[in-house]
Amino acid sequence: MATASRPTVGFIGLGNMGSGMTRNLLKAGFPLVVTDIRRESADELIAGGARWADSAAEAAAGSDLVITMLPTPRHVDEVVRGSGGILEGIADGGTWIDMSTSVPEVANRVREDEARRGLHIVDAPVSGMSVGAANGMLQIFVGGEADDFARLRPVFEAMGDPEKILHVGGHGAGYAVKLMINQLWFSHLVATAEVLAIGTKAGVDLGVLRDSLIASPANSLFVERDVLSILNDGDYDEGFAVALACKDLGLSIDLARSVGVPAELSGLVEQIYRRARATYGDRAGEMTPFKLYEDVIGTELRL
Ligand code: NAD
Repeated sequence: MATASRPTVGFIGLGNMGSGMTRNLLKAGFPLVVTDIRRESADELIAGGARWADSAAEAAAGSDLVITMLPTPRHVDEVVRGSGGILEGIADGGTWIDMSTSVPEVANRVREDEARRGLHIVDAPVSGMSVGAANGMLQIFVGGEADDFARLRPVFEAMGDPEKILHVGGHGAGYAVKLMINQLWFSHLVATAEVLAIGTKAGVDLGVLRDSLIASPANSLFVERDVLSILNDGDYDEGFAVALACKDLGLSIDLARSVGVPAELSGLVEQIYRRARATYGDRAGEMTPFKLYEDVIGTELRL
């Protein structure tokens, strides 16, 4: 446990996001205990002062609060409720923050099954890409009790932009907000790719077309800013795998189904994402659906 004023943080999942987030926790002075199924993912952190744990249970037992940053709800379930999982190590009254893009089922189950243990459970998914994780400027959407949000704010501030750390509601609200953000952003990407492919194929210069969109009511932050990583650099963001983007779209459609709202557009965007995943592979970047349209017109869209 921490002797300094900073609580010890256990962190599970040192991938594209977790690696940057843990580096920033260390930098902010939080004693850190880490684990991952890939031991080598912790080398740099251990050199920087973090401690390795052989299991999620051990990470939870040796820390004041434990964070998960894992690919899918299945991984979260395994790491929390599985053998050697967080529930085997966390103290009664302890805190688990899930920062994965996920759904509330695992947390709900834990709250129900372990009600007598008085655990504090918070969902706090993030936006801002692996770049935001690396430079400590993530946007963080927190669902849970207001007291927990206030108490945990310094931990979030070590990883995120203080102005974009939002308490968005009760348990599960963070997950829902994050899924809706991704749903809309992926829709922007597909719509923008389609428009730029049609317009340029019709003979309009790409730069002129984009400038015209920006000058019009059809402008969006995606057209103005995010698409530039492709148009300038041919960068489809391999820091976020298209397989995980498909996972997010699937969860988002499940959510729509569970609340009884039709999601025709989301369904179509999901299919386009799945086509990109099938075409370019699981590890291709989250922006590769854009490439599908470039392939159709036989030209890479570059400024
Ligand atoms: P990633 O696949 O790069 O990293 C996941 C890590 O979890 C890996 O290091 C993996 O080895 C580890 N892991 C998997 N199963 C484990 C287990 N049983 N025990 C211990 N470790 C285990 O994924 P990522 O890109 O870092 O994304 C993590 C989460 O954040 C996902 O839910 C994703 O949707 C979300 N997210 C990602 C981005 C992004 O730009 N990459 C942005 C916002 C949110």
